[in-house]
Amino acid sequence: MGIAVSPQIHPQVAEFIDKPRKMLINGQWVNAASGKTFPSYNPATGEVLAKVAEGDREDIDRAVRAAREAFDNGPWRRMTASERGRLIWKLSDLLEQHTEEFAYLESLDNGKALGIARAADVPLAVDLLRYMAGWATKIEGNTIPISVPYTPGAKYLAYTLREPVGVVGQIIPWNFPLLMAVWKLGPALATGCTVVLKPAEQTPLSALRLGELIMEAGFPDGVVNIVPGYGETAGAALAAHSDVDKVAFTGSTEVGKLIVHAAAGNLKKVSLELGGKSPNVVFKDADLDTAIPGSASAIFFNHGQCCCAGSRLYIEKSVFDKVVDGVADEAKKIKVGSGLEPDTQMGPLVSEEQLQRVCGYLEAGLSEGAKAVVGGHKAKDRGYFVEPTVLIDTRENMKVVKEEIFGPVVTAMPFTDPEEIIPRANDSTYGLAAAVWTRDISKAHRMAEQLRAGTVWINCYNIFDAALPFGGYKQSGWGREMGHDVLNLYTQTKAVCTKLG
Ligand code: ADP
Repeated sequence: MGIAVSPQIHPQVAEFIDKPRKMLINGQWVNAASGKTFPSYNPATGEVLAKVAEGDREDIDRAVRAAREAFDNGPWRRMTASERGRLIWKLSDLLEQHTEEFAYLESLDNGKALGIARAADVPLAVDLLRYMAGWATKIEGNTIPISVPYTPGAKYLAYTLREPVGVVGQIIPWNFPLLMAVWKLGPALATGCTVVLKPAEQTPLSALRLGELIMEAGFPDGVVNIVPGYGETAGAALAAHSDVDKVAFTGSTEVGKLIVHAAAGNLKKVSLELGGKSPNVVFKDADLDTAIPGSASAIFFNHGQCCCAGSRLYIEKSVFDKVVDGVADEAKKIKVGSGLEPDTQMGPLVSEEQLQRVCGYLEAGLSEGAKAVVGGHKAKDRGYFVEPTVLIDTRENMKVVKEEIFGPVVTAMPFTDPEEIIPRANDSTYGLAAAVWTRDISKAHRMAEQLRAGTVWINCYNIFDAALPFGGYKQSGWGREMGHDVLNLYTQTKAVCTKLG
């Protein structure tokens, strides 16, 4: 293959995408039971990048059987927590050693700028694995003094054990393909679960390459199984599977609701990290020299393909024009191009479907009376590029203000009274993130308390850390990823009670 690849391609990546990629089941790289493959595209050109085994129900069944056997009877369960932690750390080292290769793969498959993948996606993934490696030995229960009033005089020793939840199905999106795989795998492995991971059909390659490193690190067979395929087939089969104990999903709110229904059959545990329409509030007393580029990057980072993108920009009226012009100037400066070109800051959207979706929103907004201060259209003749866009003259009931666009499009709206901004910022079915820009520390923290969002950034945006929990209020999700909170998603508590003689 290799047809869609530019000359500066990394040699290991060229080799990796040259052959059809298989799926990882029980430590073996295998074809789909059906023998089918599906294409992964290069979004900068629209050409086929690689062919990948197309998993479906039968492959999911095989992978779940392998994960079940590894959980119930394999060496994984007998390993000490320290050995588990060391394996995760080893994986982090291997990933770090292959930073350049993963950055190329991510850039080619997803479209993002190589420099961003190199500086953000891969190092964040390495860091998260290290953070989770440390947790493996620190998952503790409690001793609990109990009174049992109906057995006067009796003495008990009671304690809790935190045990792995079991076989976990993990379904991930295409916006940060490697990082999302690691956000999911890290805590599952630290807690001693076994996994069937389904990467997004748009971007399966980095997860499959990570699978090779997982085997190289020495994880026992069946602990991590990776089955690429489409959502409606492989994803749905995994979410519904009766021998899966928990499903962890990151993606759209719409599909999140399908996952909840599918999980009801065996009442498997569910965690969801879903969409957002995050408010970004700039007060007139903010340091505008940081608030303006910060608000631009809040929406334009990763081409707006972030569930926490700052897509509703609220600006205090007296600085509205200055901030809008400033964000528009930032948008004009963004160099849009193929992810592999060295000066590219924004690549293409991930797929033709996303391009159509984002352009559909732009047309709807403009026809309803919104005005584009900058952008507003598809960019370039080839590939899935969209212009970074700032819309003004929008109303709260417009689709572009209410719905998640998942592209580089921000709606900028003025406000006059700081009291009015909380209900407006909270007027969303979502509640993933929010930001406030102000020099008034009391105002900032009062806002932080009142904003109904899982993350509130003050005078910054898109700050992520393995130690900081991330997740949604309202229809943005169930549960928290990262931090020690995530361990709750992958463990269950057993109460043990002994009567002392
Ligand atoms: P987006 O809208 O951002 O593409 P999706 O929510 O459609 O995100 O997809 C996120 C992940 O969910 C992908 O891995 C996709 O294959 C999977 N998926 C899509 N539909 C389903 C479904 N019905 N059941 C299970 N997984 C699904």
